[in-house]
Amino acid sequence: MKAEPAILADLFRQPLQIFITTHHKPDADALGSSLGWAHILRSAGHRASVVVPNDFPAFLDWMPGRDEVIDFEKDPLRAQSCLEEADLVCCLDFNDLKRNNELGERIAVSGKTILMVDHHPYPKDFATHRYHSVQASSTCELILDLCKDLGWMDFLTTDAGACLYAGLVTDTGSFRFASTTPNTHRWAAVLQERGLQHHRVHEAIFDQMPPNILRFLGHCFLNRLHVLEEFDTAYLAIPRSDLEEFGVQTGDTEGLVNYALNLKGMRFASVMIDRGPLVKMSFRSKGDVPANLFASTYFEGGGHLNAAGGQSGDSLSVTEQRFLQALHVFGPVHLQQP
Ligand code: 5GP
Ligand code: MN
Repeated sequence: MKAEPAILADLFRQPLQIFITTHHKPDADALGSSLGWAHILRSAGHRASVVVPNDFPAFLDWMPGRDEVIDFEKDPLRAQSCLEEADLVCCLDFNDLKRNNELGERIAVSGKTILMVDHHPYPKDFATHRYHSVQASSTCELILDLCKDLGWMDFLTTDAGACLYAGLVTDTGSFRFASTTPNTHRWAAVLQERGLQHHRVHEAIFDQMPPNILRFLGHCFLNRLHVLEEFDTAYLAIPRSDLEEFGVQTGDTEGLVNYALNLKGMRFASVMIDRGPLVKMSFRSKGDVPANLFASTYFEGGGHLNAAGGQSGDSLSVTEQRFLQALHVFGPVHLQQP
């Protein structure tokens, strides 16, 4: 549910010191919404700091305002003092403080007023105010809706637009997932009318691959891909040794899972990566195949209907076996309907 515009207007009546944070391993929607919101707030006369639980990937290293982002893991004292000074905490692109790691624990005991802006299902009850909709393609789209609800369209600067467009593009798979709506396209048009160089954002995000990563992808498609025709499912299981051999960094595997869904007839896909001590898992689906149900039932995770994540404390090969067993239960219900 989205908080009433009058309540929101009241919240921002006085100039505030605002602490903005997002989920761990921030992606383009997480960092884009955080920095975009910070730009808008500053134009509106507030002060804002952006604190991330841990590092963001190199392909986001172009976003206006990135140099001021405080990394809790690297500078916990500064992050804590920003939290203590804040009049308002904004939690963007997550709805469970667990997704914010230790920073989330500190927010939970801070007693601060919290505004949550998020589009994931099943929000936890920790926020004073919610601006939440699972219908929104991205948190960046919600920040734009919020900006409009507050009557702040004059504060939507070019820098804010570039950050917010990044989340619109990536969370919609470049405007192709079912979550893309007329509202999403309208906002992309508004941003372009206001000077957004959309092709530069695309290049900055998608055309940054170093040669070792293209070679890593080739290796994965050749040697790590499994196709299960009977379940319309394809998956990749990637051992730690591959990451070391190809010099794969955090963020380099982003989007890898989507390739499995490019295969004809596939409706469910997974990538499992041995990141020791945990195997990190990504799930993607098409249509009404509930990737989030699979993630929450079998791999301590969650997410959206068509994009979810989870983890396993077992070895990669045991995880793979568990995945296949789970598929033999999940498949007949969700993937083999007449
Ligand atoms: P990704 O596969 O890109 O890591 O995550 C896909 C989606 O699933 C994202 O929207 C993310 O927020 C959600 N997600 C990923 N991992 C987890 C998890 O462990 N728990 C929950 N609840 N959601 C997750
Ligand atoms: Mn998002």
